[in-house]
Amino acid sequence: MAKLQAIRGMNDILPDQTPSWQYLENRFQQVVKRFGYQEIRFPILEQTQLFKRSIGEVTDIVEKEMYSFDDRNGDNLSLRPEGTAGCVRAADQHGLLYNQQQRLWYQGPMFRHERPQKGRYRQFQQFGVEAFGMAGPDIDAEVIQLSASLWQDLDLSDYLTLEINNIGSSDDRKNYATALTTFLVSKADSLDDDARNRTHSNPMRVLDSKNPEVRRVLEDAPKLADYVSEVSVEHYCELKRLLQVAGIAFVENPRLVRGLDYYNNCVFEWITDSLGAQGTVCGGGRYDGLVEQLGGKPTLAAGFAMGAERLVLMLDSLGKVPKSARKAVDIYLVVVGKDLAEQGLLLGQQIRDRFPHLGVISHCGGGKYNNQLKRAFNSGASLAVIIESDGDEPVHTAKIRRLDDTGESVSVEIVNTSDKLAEFFDIPG
Ligand code: ATP
Ligand code: MG
Repeated sequence: MAKLQAIRGMNDILPDQTPSWQYLENRFQQVVKRFGYQEIRFPILEQTQLFKRSIGEVTDIVEKEMYSFDDRNGDNLSLRPEGTAGCVRAADQHGLLYNQQQRLWYQGPMFRHERPQKGRYRQFQQFGVEAFGMAGPDIDAEVIQLSASLWQDLDLSDYLTLEINNIGSSDDRKNYATALTTFLVSKADSLDDDARNRTHSNPMRVLDSKNPEVRRVLEDAPKLADYVSEVSVEHYCELKRLLQVAGIAFVENPRLVRGLDYYNNCVFEWITDSLGAQGTVCGGGRYDGLVEQLGGKPTLAAGFAMGAERLVLMLDSLGKVPKSARKAVDIYLVVVGKDLAEQGLLLGQQIRDRFPHLGVISHCGGGKYNNQLKRAFNSGASLAVIIESDGDEPVHTAKIRRLDDTGESVSVEIVNTSDKLAEFFDIPG
């Protein structure tokens, strides 16, 4: 029978890859903790309506990327394509937003039916933060500073550039959209189908076009910056000042509009050229209208989401995951001889009790000394503890052996193995 395969674009993450993931997850969690953010967990499935009303009907995500289906009750549900909508839904449903300030973070899988390629998958993992109830731009600067702090911890700062833009209030954008539509209609002959289709429904998405022909036309398009109101400009200028004060370099990119409808005022992306085409590792901004749009009380908000796969790709290709993060096993217990199972079990327990932070593998399944030692070497452990008997007699001594070129070893009474490990091999207890 043919073997079943994973769904295209949905990756298995195997044991030799998980250390990079754990490293990234640990670092992210340290950083959000440092900034006082609290974790929120919300379901992977939500009503499709939630995403339509937040991300926007005429966006790539909602038009063609969602995994939507009717469940057994006939409710139309979707696998979440991003985290902000679910986070807002959950926080509002449980009364965390009204008249309050919240700093929240989440992590977990997201689903988009895109064409799989390097850095673009159908199931992928995001880390995100969402801050509610703060007008900014101080909180905008904070979420950017938080992301910059993670790059610093991961030693990726040199490879990432911050791009920012001011996309104005929703009213500003409505005025701009009208002007842009007029312009696009006048250039309809030079546009592709995609751009023509969006001319009326979501003209700002045309600005994202990757088609060089369309891009050339867009050079003469009205500029959003000319439609942004004064309040919005003040907010943005203050954000830029705060970023400068915090020593966070940025580039202004007037073409940056983000693919989700709920953003307003300042938006940002962190991009890299070390990943090829999929260069955006993190995107965010303010979304002051979203909570109300989803039925809550008006609530100010800002946040970002970052793509874990792209960050793991960066960490691995740049060799930024420290060796220590890859080390799963420290000590390999070699147990040679019949009837040593019991002594092996107890010795393993002695060592684990004394050094709970170490990885100790007890050899199971018997086998010759040489074969077991080979496994010990292959495990990546730095030490082997060996008990060996050739008869039925219990043994009293163990041997501790360095699994390196020196092969240095000492003998020890089994009961004193942990003391010897501490003293002789300098393992902190
Ligand atoms: P892109 O322009 O690359 O499609 P996006 O604007 O659709 O990104 P967002 O919705 O802003 O992405 O999501 C935030 C981050 O999540 C992205 O910057 C990226 O790192 C990651 N991401 C988005 N879609 C995918 C995907 N299909 N596979 C892997 N990572 C993704
Ligand atoms: Mg996308």
